Amino acid sequence: MTSLTGKIAIVTGASSGIGAASAHALADAGATLVLVARRADRLAALAAELGADCLPFVADMAEADAPQRLHEKVMAQFGRADILVNNAGILHAAPIDQFDLDQLRPMIALNYEAVVRTCTLFGRSMKAAGTGQIINISSIGANIIAPGVGVYGGLKRALEAFTDCLRVELAGSGVKVGIVAPGTTSTEIFEDMKARGQPAWDSFIPAMQPGDVADAVRYMASQSDRTSMARIQVYAAADT
Ligand code: NDP
Repeated sequence: MTSLTGKIAIVTGASSGIGAASAHALADAGATLVLVARRADRLAALAAELGADCLPFVADMAEADAPQRLHEKVMAQFGRADILVNNAGILHAAPIDQFDLDQLRPMIALNYEAVVRTCTLFGRSMKAAGTGQIINISSIGANIIAPGVGVYGGLKRALEAFTDCLRVELAGSGVKVGIVAPGTTSTEIFEDMKARGQPAWDSFIPAMQPGDVADAVRYMASQSDRTSMARIQVYAAADT
């Protein structure tokens, strides 16, 4: 695996779970991190752990202009982006008699629209530079058929279709595009379920820890210039 020393890596949803672990893993490999999320206190604490050159960027990525502001900030501060990890995401999964329709637009805005906007802006500047890597965090939910998972899984499936097309579009430009699709991982994403008295998936499905997924992100980001990885699907060993 190649070192990431000197690389500028952006991680959205870096204030907890898989995003925070990925930021740690990429920093351990030598990258300078741009940390994106809404909770400023969490980002400040993580930035303090990761070093002085780390840039926290507090933003609600579901706002339509947030990807543009992020892109402008990164370009102004560093002049380029080498690695973009689109990780921020929310989960509302419930059968139709309990599904809260007020959750629909926020999920579309963050889990799909923000990813498309961010990939488009950073993809253009990476293409112009002739180098870069985009890693989009999907989910096992994109490929399972189960009650209540339709909206979340459908958006992850859309994210995968967009990502695969972008990979083909940018092939040969020097820009790599890939998907990391985790299985169940113990994080704060299940707080919504717990708050509604629904059993959280990680309470009955064998679950990974965020660092397990971060290892896959780091692995994808650390391939040589000769190779590109389209997809890593990673599950808890005991998961069926
Ligand atoms: P967490 O809830 O721990 O992390 C979600 C992150 O997204 C937080 O940093 C949160 O920060 C950020 N976020 C949420 N809303 C916004 C917003 N509007 N703008 C900016 N940032 C936001 O969950 P996970 O680590 O589990 O989830 C990370 C990704 O992994 C998601 O895309 C999820 O779909 C995916 N995934 C998770 C699995 C699991 O089992 N946990 C399995 C498969 C995929 P803040 O609240 O500070 O903004």
